[in-house]
Amino acid sequence: MNKYDYLIVGSGLFGATFAYFAKKRGKKCLVIDKRPHLGGNVYCENVEGINVHKYGAHIFHTSNKDVWNFVNSIVEFNRYTNSPVANYQGKLYNLPFNMNTFYQMWGVTTPEEAQAKIDEQRAEAVARMKADGAAEPRNLEEQAQVLIGKDIYERLIKGYTEKQWGRKCADLPAFIIKRLPVRLVFDNNYFNDKYQGIPIGGYNKLIDGLLSGIEAKTNTDFFDNRRYWESIADKIVFTGKIDEFYCYRFGKLNYRTVRFEQEIIDKPNYQGNAVINYTEREIPYTRVIEHKHFEMFGQAVYDCPKTVISKEYSTEWQDGMEPYYPVNDGVNTALYAKYKELADKEGNVIFGGRLAEYRYYDMAPVIEKVMGLFSNRK
Ligand code: FAD
Ligand code: UDP
Repeated sequence: MNKYDYLIVGSGLFGATFAYFAKKRGKKCLVIDKRPHLGGNVYCENVEGINVHKYGAHIFHTSNKDVWNFVNSIVEFNRYTNSPVANYQGKLYNLPFNMNTFYQMWGVTTPEEAQAKIDEQRAEAVARMKADGAAEPRNLEEQAQVLIGKDIYERLIKGYTEKQWGRKCADLPAFIIKRLPVRLVFDNNYFNDKYQGIPIGGYNKLIDGLLSGIEAKTNTDFFDNRRYWESIADKIVFTGKIDEFYCYRFGKLNYRTVRFEQEIIDKPNYQGNAVINYTEREIPYTRVIEHKHFEMFGQAVYDCPKTVISKEYSTEWQDGMEPYYPVNDGVNTALYAKYKELADKEGNVIFGGRLAEYRYYDMAPVIEKVMGLFSNRK
């Protein structure tokens, strides 16, 4: 008889939520994580009284009432509403593309005027594409212009997308932006979901609440002593990289990663918003996050005399870097399918989360997935 029912490799949202529900069902769990802290990518570090999102800005959003009620039963969420602003050559534009953006771009003040301008620019883009001998958009550059026109593409999409993917829009597949939300109302709320917010007191409160009363070890890599870890539990919940689990036998999966350059600034309010995107190609970072605006509102911004910002540089992933975004191209998708075939045959290993399932997962779907596992599990 093993000491634990579950060994959970990884204390991110998948592992922590799994541990929470398993404990509720009387299961004994041990959580291990190779990082020096718990929480995976939602971990925050307190700097100058501000919760800094160490692995990139995290905004919780969902339309699933069960998920929203569940996370709020662990820690109450605030009313943060994501409304990023784009800076192109020093001029500011609201996102997502809405009446505010169209006013800033063209000076139009009514939905009819905005629609007419978009239609005119779309028609020009279609005409250019046809003149070039194509019936359908052949790449992201053409696709974006057919959807929204030249002005928005050139000022708000082109540079940002090229920095994010490290490739020219003309060399990126069209399917990446098959849809672009266009709103003919004055609404800067980035998400369409019913609920959104940030845990009051930060994401560590969510993780601490999920892992309360559960044994957890940090600085502990499963692969440093694999045989031992495999021997102490009946089942393993693995949330690390699936290709590493199988010793890269078919080859390595690729990722995009982000480098964060953090600065403490000696003023209470640096940019007046949590997220500002820099959409021109010449500025090397994609966006600047000012962390205090996720949790401090009104006077509280000024009661905290300093501020912390992070500049985000999107780069190609190499060994030793944090893997962030899976590259869902044909080669990587086929490679993942080979690993998945092996994973499906495992009797005692559950693979879950963004690294083990090699997919881009927002936080709420991760929680939803684990809740689903437990709704069918005795
Ligand atoms: P992770 O949080 O990565 O946890 C996996 C854990 O496993 C890590 O702690 C890792 O150290 C550990 N581990 C790996 N290998 C081993 C090993 N061999 N031994 C021991 N431990 C191991 N979602 C949103 O909903 N809203 C957002 O705004 C948002 N912004 C994001 C921004 C960025 C830059 C990124 C990368 C993601 C963002 N997400 C966002 C997604 C969110 O981070 C994920 O949904 C969530 O972190 C997934 O949790 P996870 O447990 O699958 O993975
Ligand atoms: N995008 C853009 N300009 C912006 C913000 C986003 O062109 O100011 C495009 C870009 O191609 C990006 C995609 O929209 O890859 C999705 O961006 P978002 O920030 O919504 O998603 P995330 O990068 O967080 O996955």
